Formats: sequence, structure tokens, C-alpha cells
Amino acid sequence: MKAKLVDIELMERLAELTSAAADYCYQCGTCTGSCPFNLLNPSTLNPRKIVRSAQLGLMYEDPSLWYCSTCGLCEAKCPWSIKIPDVVRGYRQIASEKRKTPSKFEEILWMIYEDGTAFPGSSTERAAWTEGLNIKDASKQKVQVLLYAGCAVSFDKRLQKIARSLSSVLSIAGVDFGILGREERCCGDVVYNIGEDAFLEELTTENIKRFNKSGAEAIITISPHSAHMFKKIYPKYGLQIPAFHYIEFLNELIENGKLKMDKPVDGEVTIHDPCYLGRYLKIYEEPRKILSTIPGLKIVEMNDVKENAVCCGSGGGRHFLEIHGERLSHYRVMQAAETGASIVVAPCPFCIQNFEDSVKTKRLSLNVKDVVELVNQSLGGVV
Ligand code: SF4
Ligand code: SF4
Repeated sequence: MKAKLVDIELMERLAELTSAAADYCYQCGTCTGSCPFNLLNPSTLNPRKIVRSAQLGLMYEDPSLWYCSTCGLCEAKCPWSIKIPDVVRGYRQIASEKRKTPSKFEEILWMIYEDGTAFPGSSTERAAWTEGLNIKDASKQKVQVLLYAGCAVSFDKRLQKIARSLSSVLSIAGVDFGILGREERCCGDVVYNIGEDAFLEELTTENIKRFNKSGAEAIITISPHSAHMFKKIYPKYGLQIPAFHYIEFLNELIENGKLKMDKPVDGEVTIHDPCYLGRYLKIYEEPRKILSTIPGLKIVEMNDVKENAVCCGSGGGRHFLEIHGERLSHYRVMQAAETGASIVVAPCPFCIQNFEDSVKTKRLSLNVKDVVELVNQSLGGVV
């Protein structure tokens, strides 16, 4: 049998791509034991092995590399806080360089390249969700705040209601805001997570030009994935406009007395912490603060909240792949139902899509809402 030789070049390349994230791993296996995908579907995804391969300079080409949702729970549980999702992305970057990405991702990349969207839809239809709302076109006039809707929200009927609710709330608060409409393009979250860096640079550079042209002093997003991109990744490509997830922005409007929710929303609500809002951006308290100001609403917490929240299963590009096995969103909505709450909130479009499917599949009497939908309801806003 031929022994495998350590590939020093690969080892150095991985260390460069991942800031040597794997170096301190002592193979305790906590990551594999805490990976929710692996727990629900045993022996499918093994982050310990991925990190070990990086330490040894071995290529990792198992298809499970693409199952990882980059949720970061393993990193939160690791005694050394090793950035395991960065190691996963490092391997994906190398796979992209070798043109070894799954064919579904090739298709998504082409869609973004051709029409600026990761979801089926045409750029000419990108502002269809605004019908009847009279929202400023930030590609033609200056606005103070640029509302970035994102691909999923722009083309999905259920998710469009979130954008309409947020627009209603911003109008009630008197915010001068607008959207890029048909000029808006994918934020590149999936491009980043596939590891297609050359295209990511092109996409971010073009987006930054559009953002700058709007004259906006702040960007707000509906998706935590876009917020993560604009806050943490785009500055490396030159973005200087501050970006916020809408939860942060609403929380400030409420604290400054610009929004007063006075219509009761009766019921018990439980809060899901989306991975990219929570573990990536550390926004845990704001959704709870906002919901606690809505009269009639009582918050009940489910198991595994904040840093320990279980992923809905969609991040890291997984949303676009057909992966068989028990769905993480099924597990999460069952946790939500166990609280006895009538509403589960999730301030992330991916989580909302997954939870809507899962409550139907599991036949649960749970309403799935985004935080802003409840805020708008309490303000008596239109949708
Ligand atoms: S939990 Fe951390 S130290 Fe333990 S095997 Fe995983 S990466 Fe290594
Ligand atoms: S990031 Fe999440 S899905 Fe990926 S290996 Fe870690 S726990 Fe599992």
C-alpha cells in the first residue's frame, strides 16, 4: 500500500486561507459530538476529521464538506474556540480553485453572474414586492438609509411580507429610506461560502459602487447573512458605509422613542437565534428587547438558545443542495413547540422558509413570524 505523503504546499495554503485555525486542535471530538447535522444523521459530517486533515496537510474531498451549514455551533463548543467553519471554507476555496464544486453550485454561480440573483427570478422583477408602497428608488435619488432586501426576500411571496412590514415600520418612524430595486444584486453570501473568491471580489466591488452611488449613510438588511457580508466581508473590499441588521436599527428607533407599539399582540412567543445573527454578529438581546416592548406578548425561551441555538439547516450554501436525512428545522420547530408558545420568531428569511415547511410537515399549530412582522402588527401598520 502506498503511504500518503504530507503535502506541505497544501498545508501552507490552508493555513493561509484559515489563519492557521486548525493548529491548536487536540482532537477531543467535541465538535463532532455537538454538530447538529451529525447528531441527527450519525456519521455524516465529521468536523474533527476535517480539522485533522488540515493539520496534516491532507486534502479533504468527502462530499460531506458541502453539508456543513457553517452554523458555528462546533466552534462555540470547542475548548479552543477553533474557527472550524473557516477550515471548511478553506477546503471549499481550494475545491473551487480546482473546479470541484458540486454542480448545483456551478448553476447558482451562473445565475448570480447572469442575473444577479441566487434565487429563481429576474432582476426586472426584483422590486415587485414594493407594489403600492411608494418606496424611493435609491438608484435614482439620494436616500439616508438603503434598505437591502436580498434575493430570497425579493422573489418569495412569503418573505416579501417581511420586507413590506419593515418598509411600513420605517415609514411610521419617519426614516428616509429607499431600495436599489432592479439595480440590487446578490450580496454574495453563497459565493463566499462556496469559496469562489475571484467572483466574490467582482461582485462585492460592483455592489459597493451601487451602494456609494445611492449616497446612503447606512445600509440595513433583512437577512443576517447579508448583514454579516456587509459588516465583516465587504469592508475588506472597500465598503465604508456602516451596515446593520434591521433588528439593530429597530432597537435604536425604539430606544430613541421613534416607535411606540401600543396595539396588543396576545400570545406567547419563543425566539430562535439565527446562526449568522447570533453566533456571527452576537445580536442576542436586541430581538428580546424589541419583543418585550410589544403589549400582550409574553416571551418563553426554548432549549438551546443564543450561543447554543440549533441551526435551521440553511446556511453555508446548504439551502441550495438536496441533502437527505432528518432536517434540522424539524428538530428546531419541535423544540419551539415544546415551550407551548403559539408563535416562533426567527429574524432570518432562510429560517422562516424552513420553519414554515417544518411546522406543516410536523403538523404543529405554531405561527412562524419575523420580529418586524409583530412590531408592524403592534403599530397598526399596513402590509
Ligand atoms: S472541538 Fe476543537 S479541539 Fe476538539 S476536535 Fe474539534 S476542533 Fe479540535
Ligand atoms: S459549522 Fe455547524 S454544521 Fe458545520 S461542522 Fe460545525 S456544527 Fe456542524
